[in-house]
Amino acid sequence: MAFEELVVRLNDGGYKNWLKAGRCLVILKEGLHPFTDQHMRDFHGYLLDHNPQLRNTCRASCQLRTNKLCSGCSEWKKEILKQHRQPKPTIYWDNCSPAYWRTDHWELAKAYMPRGQASKQRADQCDAAALLNLINHCNWFNFVDPKVVREVIQSRNELMHSSNFRMTDEWMRHFQTSLKHLVHQIDQQSQMKKVAQQIDKMLKLNLSISIDLMDGLESDTTSQSDVNSDLVGQWEAELLQEMLQEFLNTPAEDEDTDAPDAEHLRTLAGFLEANKDLSERFSAELQVINSLKAKE
Ligand SMILES: [Zn+2]
Repeated sequence: MAFEELVVRLNDGGYKNWLKAGRCLVILKEGLHPFTDQHMRDFHGYLLDHNPQLRNTCRASCQLRTNKLCSGCSEWKKEILKQHRQPKPTIYWDNCSPAYWRTDHWELAKAYMPRGQASKQRADQCDAAALLNLINHCNWFNFVDPKVVREVIQSRNELMHSSNFRMTDEWMRHFQTSLKHLVHQIDQQSQMKKVAQQIDKMLKLNLSISIDLMDGLESDTTSQSDVNSDLVGQWEAELLQEMLQEFLNTPAEDEDTDAPDAEHLRTLAGFLEANKDLSERFSAELQVINSLKAKE
C-alpha cells in the first residue's frame, strides 16, 4: 500500500518542512506567472515607445551564436544590457531568438533568466528560479529590493539541493520571513495578496496522515478537510519531478547557477530507490539516472 510509505515519510518533521516549503514555492510561482507576464508586456511596450530603432523588423533571422546581428537586433541587444540591474551582467544569450525580440515580450524576458530557457515560450512554462532571476536582473522590477529576491532564490536552491530532504524549523522560519518580504513588495502591484494567504495557509497546515492498518482504511488527521493523502502525495510527486528535471537538464559545466552535481543526483536516486512507491512512480527517471551513472 503506497500510503504506508507516505505516512512514514510524513512522520518526519524535517521532511514535512521540506515538502511544505516546496509547496510554497509552487504557490509563489503560480502567482508570479501573471505578475511577470503583465510586467514584461508593459516593459516591452515601453521600450518600443521610447526607442524607435527597436521597431525595425529582423529580416535576417539573426542568431546570437554567429554574432552578426541586423541593426534592429543589435539595438535590442544594447537595450537589454542597458536595462540590466547588475553593472557587469552575465547574460545567457542562448536563451533568446533575437528575431522575436521585437514582437514577443517573453523572448525579451528570457535574456534576464538563468540558462536553459530557450524552449520556454510563455511565463507559465518557467519555474520559480527563472522568474525570480528575471525580477532580480531586469530593471523594470526595480521596485523590488534585489536583496529580498536573492534571499528567496537562495532558500529555493537550498531546498532543491538539500541532501537529506529535510529542512529544520529554524530554516523554515527564515524561509517564511523571506517569502513574506518578497510577496509584500510585490502585492502592492498585483493580486499577490491571494498568494500571501495561500502561503500562510500552507505553512500552518498539519500534513500528518494516519492510517488504520487494522482495517486498511486511511484517515486523515489534517485539520483542513480539503487536504487528503492523495493530494499530499501529488504535491510530493510534483516537487520531486521538478527536482529531477532540474538535476537532469542542467549542464554539468554550469558553474555559476549553483548547478547540482553528480553527487546530488545520486542522493536523489538513492532516496527514490529507498521508497518503493516513489521508485515505481519515477522508474523512467531512475533508469535515466542509472544510465548516466554507468557512463561515469
Ligand atoms: Zn535581426
